[in-house]
Amino acid sequence: MLKINHCNAECPCTFSKAYCMAARYRYVHGISSSEIVKKFAFSSIFKYGEELLTCFAKPKNESRLPQRKGARIALEKLFSFMSSGLELTESCLRKNIKGVPESDWSVVVAHHLLSKLAVSSFYLIDQSRGKQNRCPCQCGESLTGTYGDSSIGSPEVWHGLLDILMSVSVKFMSFEDPDSLSGSGGHYIVRGKETDLKSIREQIIAQSIVFSFFQRKLHPEYVHHLIPSIGISKDMLVVYLYDCNNDILLESSEMPYLTTQGALVKPTIVALWLVLNYEFLCSGITKGMNDSGVKSNFTQLVHEKLKLYDKVTVPCDSSCSGEEEQWTWGARPENDEPAQRFSDVNMLQPWKLSDSS
Ligand SMILES: [Zn+2]
Repeated sequence: MLKINHCNAECPCTFSKAYCMAARYRYVHGISSSEIVKKFAFSSIFKYGEELLTCFAKPKNESRLPQRKGARIALEKLFSFMSSGLELTESCLRKNIKGVPESDWSVVVAHHLLSKLAVSSFYLIDQSRGKQNRCPCQCGESLTGTYGDSSIGSPEVWHGLLDILMSVSVKFMSFEDPDSLSGSGGHYIVRGKETDLKSIREQIIAQSIVFSFFQRKLHPEYVHHLIPSIGISKDMLVVYLYDCNNDILLESSEMPYLTTQGALVKPTIVALWLVLNYEFLCSGITKGMNDSGVKSNFTQLVHEKLKLYDKVTVPCDSSCSGEEEQWTWGARPENDEPAQRFSDVNMLQPWKLSDSS
């Protein structure tokens, strides 16, 4: 659980300029009197997903399929990926680790990994990342997603572009080393520099919070609004979840999803599957989280700007800043008068610095 100490969520800031100092909540241990980070099991907020898997894994005569269509499709997606999709995805990700522009890499991950595990295989890619119809890894497959305007938010507060927009929002770690850019097409993955997801932590938190408000606006019918966002690097991923009803912000550990040999890490794949299908598999915050009384403090920090978060849109609509007064030639307030006024504008001389120059 995270507590935000300072942030600029009240300012008209893009995600790349978002400032958000958030610390993990600590409590004092009764016996040792030392401060300990409050942790929860990842599965504790995905009880529906956990039950679904354990019910299916029982002996044949007791094994049960989920009744809900979405959950059934989710289960089918996981099994089909684990049985037949794993090798193809591994080979596509492997051949794209080196020498591929980061924008293409993110599309390959969205196409071969994220969309294969999600109930809806559609994804919207930030249009600045290209515009091809086929997967850039040359597997020949048509993309199940499309390029478009992936901006989100309200221009007067946190807003910006999402790398990938699905049922979750996705932020890719930039692989580009600014020193190695060589004009056109010089964006290559630099091994060893790209794995630190902490460098984009503040951005993902800002994105997660905005995305949660957006999902609540889009789906007020959801039983809870603990909404995940994912940060992905070349081989690790991290999940942030924000519940805008209860003002609770959660951060997962960084999870490796691809080994150095290019094999997918199955426990992380299951975790990713839970996250991508949270509408069917996430059970919301736990009683323990609720009883702890720990809040992220976001709603307190943004004060009256909170109402702008309730109005976030996709795409981020510049006209939604309509509350601002239109610029006109109308009379100005007194204080906007020039501090020094010449009596006759026709007597103005060429502009000169003061005599001290
Ligand atoms: Zn491909």
